[in-house]
Amino acid sequence: MALNMVLPRTGVGIDVHAFAPENDPQPLWLGGLFWPGEQGLSGHSDGDCVAHAAADALFSACGIGDLGTHFGTDRPEFAGASGVKLLGEAARIVREAGFEIGNVAVQFVANRPKFGPRREESQRVLSEAAGAPVSVTATTSDGLGFTGRSEGISAVATALVYPVSANEASAPEPGPAKGAPHA
Ligand SMILES: [Zn+2]
Repeated sequence: MALNMVLPRTGVGIDVHAFAPENDPQPLWLGGLFWPGEQGLSGHSDGDCVAHAAADALFSACGIGDLGTHFGTDRPEFAGASGVKLLGEAARIVREAGFEIGNVAVQFVANRPKFGPRREESQRVLSEAAGAPVSVTATTSDGLGFTGRSEGISAVATALVYPVSANEASAPEPGPAKGAPHA
């Protein structure tokens, strides 16, 4: 007799963006929030590496590829889309693939911006986009590496998902015992 048990699946995602050069300044979008007065990140999109890492981890957990797989050149409508929009679409794709989202945890490495005062705001925006809890934490690299030299921001995310439709398909439906006549 098979155990009627749903195993969750974890995923991982990493995203890095360089700060835009001083002669081509960009607004900073990070963790789904706009940061007035902060140096922005370069990239084809808004460069929100927190949101991108979260979306990547969701795809990873489901084993259905990565950001490039789903938002590549064959989906031009997502070229330049905001990180929040990408995360929302990633969550939709994950659910369409038969999974529900347990949670996503993201940590970014940067000297700036000072994240603590806006943590809850960021978590609210990203959780709403994903339809599941997204937690965000921040740290520095103690002055080392490209994040320590303030050349860019890196973010790593983990995600937990669990299969929904596959479980429903394999689990017997409660109902009349075998052989009983249907009503
Ligand atoms: Zn990115």
